[in-house]
Amino acid sequence: MRGLGYRKSIWGCLDRRISGGKIHRGEGCELGIFTAKTRRARGRREDFSPFCWISGKFLLHVGGKVWLDQRKVRCFYSHRFEIELPRDHPYPMDKFRLSKEMLLVEGVLRPEEIVEVGQAPDHLIRSVHDAAYVERVYSCSLDRKEALRLGLPITPELYTRSASEVEATRMACRAALEEGVAICLAGGKHHAFSEYGSGGSVFNDVAVAIRDLQLWRPGLRVMVVDTDAHQGDGTHALLAGDPRVFTYSIHVAPSGARPGVAGSMDVETVRYVEGEMYLRQLFSTLAAALDTFAPDLVIWIAGADNHHNDRYGQMMLTAKDLQRRDEVLLKAFIRNRIPVAVLYGGGCNRQAEFTAKIHRNTVAMAKQLAAEHRGLWASQDKLALSA
Ligand SMILES: [Zn+2]
Repeated sequence: MRGLGYRKSIWGCLDRRISGGKIHRGEGCELGIFTAKTRRARGRREDFSPFCWISGKFLLHVGGKVWLDQRKVRCFYSHRFEIELPRDHPYPMDKFRLSKEMLLVEGVLRPEEIVEVGQAPDHLIRSVHDAAYVERVYSCSLDRKEALRLGLPITPELYTRSASEVEATRMACRAALEEGVAICLAGGKHHAFSEYGSGGSVFNDVAVAIRDLQLWRPGLRVMVVDTDAHQGDGTHALLAGDPRVFTYSIHVAPSGARPGVAGSMDVETVRYVEGEMYLRQLFSTLAAALDTFAPDLVIWIAGADNHHNDRYGQMMLTAKDLQRRDEVLLKAFIRNRIPVAVLYGGGCNRQAEFTAKIHRNTVAMAKQLAAEHRGLWASQDKLALSA
């Protein structure tokens, strides 16, 4: 069977061995009957996960045989993502629920692909955040200045929604490593620093997820690809100096009020950049970053605020430009066999429901490409990023 030969190059860090197998093509799914062995154990589902990634299929055990479902992409969600905001608040807090409903109603996602998460453990949040700050969020005792910087009402629900978002990102990263592509139906709170939150970001879910992964696999090389219209300043500050992490961010040049924090690679666009110029800048610089760093995992903060009708994005991309961005980036990650966790990032479109629609489009693209290309992991072809 093709593909097994690449096991070592992709999963060299894993102590596993697969001795052979046949695949019988069926309708939509494929049934594989394998003689699959690992040195540690036999028959547990997770033991087959690397093989699942190589052959590109989701594996379920059926009476000693392996049922492969290449259509499944796990998406992590919490009903706590949506909290009540004042009527005139500009943030589209319902975008999480709306985008999930769109994906389900349109049949892009099946209900079993959506995984409801709980809250991230407090000690994990404190692994990147100052304990006193976490306590102030928990006890709703942030002062007026801190609340203004966050731009959200300080309520008990703010803590639970933020801790749930951290958990969803953490789970998506772990799932991406096992299955190639996984999605957090929120996430990308990149303006959260150790001791304070800002711009709607309470806890930095990406930094917490990376610290959690490092406990599990200390040598893992993680690249944060941040294509939200704003610089991932909090993420840069929290992960600075860690050679195992590469932070890439493409954004409108930070202004005087918000000077920014340098990441591993910062790409600044002109204010109100048009789609074509933006995409050219993105593809060329990201290709160089991927080549240089060679990550084991990409955490991609997609961003919906690059759209020309966004309140705060200051970019002029159309929905078509954003779909092109999503397609090229996802193909580059997937075809180069780099596991990717997809996160929403920001978005505050003047047409409220449209933010949800842009996030929905990103998820739909990830779902479609994961299904289409999972069978191609065996291929040696690499896809170049091109505008
Ligand atoms: Zn943004």
